[in-house]
Formats: sequence, structure tokens, C-alpha cells
Amino acid sequence: MGIKKGVRGGRAAPAEGQMTGFTFRKGTLYCEDVKVDDIVASVGSPVYVYSERAVLGNYREIRNAFAGVSTLICFSVKSNSNLSVLHLLALEGSGFDVVSGGELYRALQAGADPRKTIFAGVGKNPQEIKYALDSNILMFNVESQAELESINTIAHDNKTTARVALRLNPDVDPKTHARTTTGKKENKFGIDLGMAEKVVKGAKRYDSLQICGLHVHLGSPIMSPEPYVKALEKLNGFLPLCRKYSLPIEYVNIGGGYCISYTGEAVCRPADYAREVLPLVRAVGLKLILEPGRFIVGNAGILVTKVLYDKESSFGKRFVICDAAMSDLIRPTLYDAFHRIWPVNPRVPMPEVLTPKGFNPPKKGLAKVDIVGPVCESSDFFARDRFIPKIKQGELLSIFSAGAYGFTMSSNYNSRPRPCEVMVRDKTFQVIRRRESYEDLVAKEIG
Ligand SMILES: *Cc1c(COP(=O)(O)O)cnc(C)c1O
Repeated sequence: MGIKKGVRGGRAAPAEGQMTGFTFRKGTLYCEDVKVDDIVASVGSPVYVYSERAVLGNYREIRNAFAGVSTLICFSVKSNSNLSVLHLLALEGSGFDVVSGGELYRALQAGADPRKTIFAGVGKNPQEIKYALDSNILMFNVESQAELESINTIAHDNKTTARVALRLNPDVDPKTHARTTTGKKENKFGIDLGMAEKVVKGAKRYDSLQICGLHVHLGSPIMSPEPYVKALEKLNGFLPLCRKYSLPIEYVNIGGGYCISYTGEAVCRPADYAREVLPLVRAVGLKLILEPGRFIVGNAGILVTKVLYDKESSFGKRFVICDAAMSDLIRPTLYDAFHRIWPVNPRVPMPEVLTPKGFNPPKKGLAKVDIVGPVCESSDFFARDRFIPKIKQGELLSIFSAGAYGFTMSSNYNSRPRPCEVMVRDKTFQVIRRRESYEDLVAKEIG
């Protein structure tokens, strides 16, 4: 697939690979040209740090890869919904993929063009549908016949027409974690092909709908183009029926799920997907929509945490207890997700590749530890049986690839104020969400 070999020179991602914005220089971690140490000295820990250069670089990479056909990129807001991140992408021309009224509100607040905004999700409620219609969004991705009825009625009552795409469930295995698989027939998402056929045949009765697209989203992360190809073949096979019943299909939407490297190994890149996908899109002459989230922000962000305690058991087990917790980054708990973790000021350079299986290089200076948080749950961990350089109380750890599904999945569990978020641009950084206070925790409960 023409993938080049991984990392060099202590980079935090493949040298030939995706832009991350994070590098070790003279033994300390930088985000662009800012020392991570300096950020923590200024705003404390834990803190999410994002690289603006990496967010933009990744957006442009996927945009350029698919430039061969008319393509709308709709950034998946649920992966990172900070207003500054959304604003940055809106200025760059990105559209947005939202899955709730709240996300639509955020996107609009950040300057999103409603005509580049699409609304997905299996359970849109009537208020959300009305709000999206009033906002004149580009289209809804509709996930059931019942939802079609509902949108049709609401559009009718509001004397307007709703543009919709049918989200098909193509029953394609994306070969990823079961909990992030969405396009198989047993998943709650999308309309199966048999049911979709009925919908198309009866489409005339939806007097306030314009069915202008077909959509799939298979799951995430997807490590090869093959599932997209299989899904597109099914979509393309469904088009003649749509034409027969005179549906004005204008868009084909292949969703998100484009992978990133969590280990430093080389992985599939946008150009690799595009090479396989574009011919199938050209064949049907439709406009393409993509909904990347993870690819744009995942490797553009880290979570920095301070070591509170180094705890040893008499059984020889060692715990590094940090000031960040599952309430700040829940992916390891939720999906057994692997994140590279390394000291911000390491005594041993970070290897090019770190995998769940461990690594070969000399284990000198490394210790096998569980990296855990302070929350009162055994599932509050970031890594188990992980070799990292020996680290002392008060030192900082960087948890890499935390820019997607990091802060957006955070909670106040154990009444922990959420961390702050920082955006770096070149030599400067800005707090783009302040750290929550104790007052914030109770603010909505005080009459
Ligand atoms: C979550 C989601 C995406 C984004 O997935 P990524 O893996 O972040 O690219 C896109 N489309 C839909 C419908 C989603 O639910």
C-alpha cells in the first residue's frame, strides 16, 4: 500500500507519518515550539494540549487526498467539540457532522456554515429536529423509518422541506473493536437494505422530505480501505432503485473512521483510502461527503498529567498514581484503548514504536507499572503492566493521541473538576477552556 516505515529521531509519531505537533528536543517534550513543562507551569495539571498546526495539517491532508472529486468534509464534532477547534476548522472551510442539538449549537457558535452541517444519530428528538430545520442545515442522516416520518411531520408543520440522507446499515465488518462497530446488521445504527428498499418504494408519501443522499458510517478506527469499498459497492448497488423511484440523490457519504497510529507504527493514510474509494465515487457521479473526527484531532492532542505517588506492593506490583483519571480520558476503561505514555522529561528516550505487547529494547532504566488515576474504581487506569522510564513524584507524563474522544468524553465523576484545554500555535499558547472550579461543580444545583 506504499506505506513508508515508521518513526525516527525520537518523534512522537511516524516521521513519514501524520502530523502530530509533538517532538522531544534535548530531552524534553515540545508542542510545536512550546515546552510542555512551561504550559504546566502556567496552567497546572492535568491539561489537554493541542497543536493548531497538526489539526490544520491533518484537515488539509484528508482534504487534499480526496480532492479528485467534489468532496465536503464534515468534521465529527463529537471527537473534539471545543469552540476554538471548531472555529479553526470552520475558517479552513470545513463542514460539521453533529449528533445532537447541543453539538449543532456549538458548531453554529463556532461559526459553522449551516449549509455544510449534517445531523446524524439514531435518536433525534423533536426539539432537535426543529432546531436543525430552523438553522437550515444541509441535511439529516436518517436512521429509521420512524425517524423519517417524524422529520417529515415536523418539516410539514413548519412549512419547509427537510433534506435527508438515508443512513444505510450495509452489514459490513469494519474489523475494529466490537464497541466501536456500527455498520453490522446487529448494530442499532442505520436502515438495513431490506427496510431501505421499502422506504424508497414508499418515498412519495413523504411530502416534506427531499431524499438527497445515501450515508454509511461503519465504525472506528478502520485500518484499511476495504470496508469502505465493500460498503460503497452496496450503496452503488442501491442507487438504481433510488433512480427508479426518482429520488434526487446528489450525495454519497462514507462517514468517518479513518485511523490514526496509536503506537507509532505506520498505518493507512487518507491517500490510501482515497485511491480505492474515488473510482467508486466517480463511477456514480455523485458528490462525496466524509465525516472524519479522530484523524483530524486524535494525534494533534495529548493529556499531560503529574505523578502524585509511586506505590509498590509487597507482591512486586507497582502503581504510578497520576492526577488525571478515567473521568478525564476514558478510552482505556471503555475500549481497552492503547495510548502511548512517556515522561515529559524522560531519562530514556521514547522508542519509535510502543505497542501493547511491549517492546524489545533494553529494559534498563525502565520499570513495569500500572498507570492509574485517583478515581474510586478499579477500572480507572491508563495502562497496565507498561514499561516506562523510572519516574518520581511530581514529574509529568504525556498520554499521547488524546485529542479525539478525550475531553469530549470527560465527566465530573467523583466530583473532579474537568481539566483545562490549551491550544498551541508556534511559540505561543492559549487556554481555550479554563479549568473547572469547585463552584462550577455545584453551580447548576444552587437555586
Ligand atoms: C463518530 C462518528 C464519526 C467520526 O468517526 P471518527 O472515527 O472519529 O472519524 C463520523 N460519522 C458518524 C456518524 C459518527 O457517529
